[in-house]
Formats: sequence, structure tokens, C-alpha cells
Amino acid sequence: MRVVELLRDERPTFSFEFFPPKTEAGVAKLYATIEHLAELDPGFVSVTYGAGGSTRDTTVETADHIRNRIGLETVAHLTCRGHTADELDSVIDRLGAAGVENVLALRGDPPKGSPADQAPGAFAFARDLVEHIVGRGGFSIGAACYPEGHVENRDKQDDLCRLVEKVNAGSEFLITQLFFDNAFYFDFVARAWALGVAVPIVPGLMPVTNVGQLQRFTEMCGATVPHRLRTRLEPVQDDDQAVMAVGIEWCLDQARDLLARGAPGIHFYTLNRSLATRVVCRSLQR
Ligand SMILES: Cc1cc2nc3c(=O)[nH]c(=O)nc-3n(C[C@H](O)[C@H](O)[C@H](O)COP(=O)(O)OP(=O)(O)OC[C@H]3O[C@@H](n4cnc5c(N)ncnc54)[C@H](O)[C@@H]3O)c2cc1C
Repeated sequence: MRVVELLRDERPTFSFEFFPPKTEAGVAKLYATIEHLAELDPGFVSVTYGAGGSTRDTTVETADHIRNRIGLETVAHLTCRGHTADELDSVIDRLGAAGVENVLALRGDPPKGSPADQAPGAFAFARDLVEHIVGRGGFSIGAACYPEGHVENRDKQDDLCRLVEKVNAGSEFLITQLFFDNAFYFDFVARAWALGVAVPIVPGLMPVTNVGQLQRFTEMCGATVPHRLRTRLEPVQDDDQAVMAVGIEWCLDQARDLLARGAPGIHFYTLNRSLATRVVCRSLQR
């Protein structure tokens, strides 16, 4: 099923994002985690793609397994950076053969340590990949968006215009970068609507479970950690359970407010761990 149809439903769509593990033991653990989360009846599960093709096979295999063995609707991420058109086509062919109908088309970032201009690949931007997949037909395509702006583009309005190009190229739904202050989401959605973006914009949330990880992620993606969240986390940062309790409460408050004010669903960045996501999702479904 095309996830855009789920997102247009009046009921909120909950979705979970996972990354393909590197070891067989990790894969088995991930499948057990997803089977466990399946009881929450997510609208879809998404599987990330390693920049430059580092998870090319495992992304396809994981998406195939989740869709055809576990029976959950799946969105496969695909990044174009560093790939030729033929390489991308071979991944797209395999996804199609596995019955995966939904692709999140991304540019990706250069692999760590490589110069930014090394092996740029056939397509410079996600928009070009969206156009390419549309040209082939058969997939519902989503794209990424950034309520606080993308880190490489200081001009937020230009960044938004680039997003409009991705939507005009054929992106049917958008998933946001994580954020911790809903004001960014609502302001962003209003500005996107003003430019004619009419596709569902799904907020991406990450329940905080570790302060060091939070710092690394937010430094990388440029998301703001509100002062109020910081002051709650800092005194308990060495106590895993206390951090998770704060993270769950914050995420639940965010999610409730987002859904009450019209968000089409919540996309959870699970980091392959299920407990915090499960607690938040269960509470929302009650
Ligand atoms: C929901 C989500 C899922 C993600 N999944 C993955 C994943 O699985 N694997 C992974 O490696 N990364 C993933 N990422 C990270 C993503 O690849 C990076 O944020 C990357 O830096 C940008 O990707 P994009 O698709 O948004 O790029 P683009 O939309 O191409 O934008 C990248 C930058 O280029 C600018 N730009 C766009 N078009 C033009 C143009 N024509 N001229 C000049 N500038 C332009 C934009 O303003 C932006 O600053 C994900 C991000 C999100 C939000």
C-alpha cells in the first residue's frame, strides 16, 4: 500500500524508523524488536540507507523481510550521493521485486572522512532522485524536510523553495528531521503551505534516552534542544532510567500537541530500540 493513502486517513499514522544492523545477530535482534512493535499496529516502518551504498544490500533485505515476513508496510530510504544512475536503478529494481512500494528519496551525506566533492554521483540533490524514480513509475515517493532549516543552507527561505522543488518533482509525503520544540514544526508547515506545499508533512520525533547521543545528533543535524529540556536532563544525565523518563514525557507531550493541532501522524526515530517508542505510542493510542 502507498503510505500516502494512510497519511491522508483521518486517524493518525504512527511509523517507526530503523537502521539495518551490521551483524547477523544484530539483524535477528532487530527483527525481534520490530515483531514486538508490530502489536502497536504502525502504519509503516522505514529502513534507512547508508550513505554511499554502505547498507545497499541490507536495506533491501531488511525492507523485504519487514514487508513480506513480518507483514508491515515498508518505506525504504534511498540516497543518491555517490551512486551512478545504474547503481540506483539496481536498488530500485530489487525493491520493486520485493513489492516495496514506498521510497524515501534522499541526497545523503558524504561518507565520513571523504571530501564533500568526491564521487558526487549521477544526481546532486534529492529532487533529481525523486524525478528519476517518478520517471520509472511504480513507487510512492517521500522526501525529507527540515523545520529548523537544513544545516548546509543558511537561507531558510531558499531551503524551503528547494523543498517545493522536491514536492513538485513528485514527492507525495514529507518526513521531518527530529525537533524538540513544536513551534518549529508549526511555523515550518505554515510557511510550506503558503508556498503551495499540499502533501502530508509527518513530524519526526526522537524520545531521548541518552544525553551524549542527543548532543551528537543535534550537533550533526542542527536541531535545537530547548533550555527547559536541557535543564531537566542535565541533573540526571548519568541515570539512564531517569533520562529515559524525561525523554518519554517530553516526546509524549510533543506528540499529543502535534496530533491535537492536526499533524497527520508521528514518525519515531527509534534508533533500533523499542522501549521508549513503545511507551509513547501506547499512551497516545489509549
Ligand atoms: C526523515 C529523514 C530521513 C533520512 N534518512 C537518511 C538515510 O536513510 N540515509 C542517509 O544517509 N541520510 C538520511 N537522512 C539525512 C539526509 O540525507 C541529510 O540531511 C542530507 O544532508 C540532505 O538530504 P536531503 O535529501 O534532504 O537533500 P536535498 O533535498 O538534496 O537538500 C540538501 C541541501 O541542498 C540544498 N539544495 C537542494 N536543492 C538545491 C539546488 N538545486 N541548488 C542548490 N542547493 C540545493 C538544500 O537546501 C539543502 O541544504 C535523512 C534525513 C531525514 C530528515
